Amino acid sequence: GKVDHECEALVLGAGPGGYSSAFRSADLGMKTILVERYATLGGVCLNVGCIPSKALLHTAAVMDEVKTMAKHGITFGAPKIEIDQLRAYKDSVIGKLTGGLAGMAKARKVQIVRGLGRFLDANHIEVDLTDGAGQDLTGKKEVVRFQKAIIAAGSQPVSLPFLPVDPRIVDSTGALLLKSVPKRMLVIGGGIIGLEMATVYSTLGSKIDIAEMMDGLMAGADRDLEKVWEKFNAGRFEKIMLKTRAAKAEVKPDGIQVTFEGENAPAEAQTYDLVLVAVGRTPNGKKIDAGVAGVQVDERGFIAVDKQMRTNVPNIFAIGDIVGQPMLAHKAVHEGHVAAEAAAGHKSYFDAKQIPSVAYTDPEVAWAGLTEEQCKAQGIAYEKGLFPWAASGRAIANGRDEGFTKLLFDANTHRIIGGGIVGTHAGDLIGEVCLAIEMGADAVDIGKTIHPHPTLGESVGLAAEAAEGHCTDLP
Ligand code: FAD
Repeated sequence: GKVDHECEALVLGAGPGGYSSAFRSADLGMKTILVERYATLGGVCLNVGCIPSKALLHTAAVMDEVKTMAKHGITFGAPKIEIDQLRAYKDSVIGKLTGGLAGMAKARKVQIVRGLGRFLDANHIEVDLTDGAGQDLTGKKEVVRFQKAIIAAGSQPVSLPFLPVDPRIVDSTGALLLKSVPKRMLVIGGGIIGLEMATVYSTLGSKIDIAEMMDGLMAGADRDLEKVWEKFNAGRFEKIMLKTRAAKAEVKPDGIQVTFEGENAPAEAQTYDLVLVAVGRTPNGKKIDAGVAGVQVDERGFIAVDKQMRTNVPNIFAIGDIVGQPMLAHKAVHEGHVAAEAAAGHKSYFDAKQIPSVAYTDPEVAWAGLTEEQCKAQGIAYEKGLFPWAASGRAIANGRDEGFTKLLFDANTHRIIGGGIVGTHAGDLIGEVCLAIEMGADAVDIGKTIHPHPTLGESVGLAAEAAEGHCTDLP
């Protein structure tokens, strides 16, 4: 058949994984083509994920903080919300970043083919070209021949089949459009994405219910951290319904009427102006005809890879959300670098000792490495260092001392194996814990590191000092 483009490395999908691997691949001297259906680069993270959500969470955090100033003797008037302008601000943040990526792609001579790609065999991909906005197919097709391919096609929100189709029932992408501020909102799913959007909308004025099937919010987080979050947020939401699922929804003239089932289900159906479904994400592995190229895709749509991010087909790699949990941008980026380097023949492999998670809620919740629950479940003997922020000068000065920093050390080696932080800026603070785990630091290394005073970052050193008390081999 006809071949329109040839390259050494083809990257399918331009999310954090895809653009990182395309840029690394070009930097290593390979002729690189990036296939992306949408007009802008950046994938879910930049366009409808990490970045727009953080732009709105920043707005919410400032609005919430201003309210606390009355205690300081400073009062402001009630906020006046110009929703069009807030949306424009969020869009300008996305625009700056996606524009920056386009510039970086150009500077590296990464060629972009706009369209929906699917494999023809293990060396060819066919692209159904899309129009400028990336939504509609133009009817034109182009074929790319490649030596190596890196699949970075990402994931999409899971939908609930029983929910009717209605503009008032949205996924995270719909919620980030910020069409209006609903009076009553239901968030189905108490994971990070649901709680972040619930935080934004509640600050903007929505009355919010959260329904979560499991017996706790923020699955995966240390329960002690989550408890602090829940206590702090007790007044923010109308109802947090654990062990409860939305079972039925009907479109009524005055809203979406939802019936619940489970331990904390309200007896009566509830009516909402907006329902956000945030029950997880599903990989796009079944949509790219990977099987035609011989790539094994499991029944959920995940693609299995080895430590070099290589699939069962030697010249085809896969990275990011499509290869499995945790579905996080920083994981995709690091995997993207490994795949590009391996495709270029380097001996790189993915061997992260930890992948951090952060809920950018108020307070923030951040963790890395093992949690206490995981240590117990895996029978790992550990020591704990805890520093409550009620003893932090900076946290008290900030008027936000509800948090704490917890570090976990291997009881035998005293090396750090995990850590969690709940409090303002926890996401920015967890990086030090990540580095300590990667470097194999022990409690003494961290405790004797002089941290600047007065900072929230000091809490990491002080938590390590608290654990040092348990060490038996100190000089
Ligand atoms: P994606 O970002 O999913 O990109 C895949 C790209 O491939 C898309 O651009 C898609 O259009 C394209 N594509 C797919 N199939 C084809 C095809 N056949 N042809 C052409 N193009 C195709 N992670 C964090 O680390 N921190 C956060 O704060 C955070 N916040 C989030 C908030 C929300 C609301 C959401 C939804 C997600 C958030 N995430 C966050 C997760 C993060 O967005 C993902 O982990 C990350 O985007 C995955 O990157 P990826 O490269 O695997 O794929």
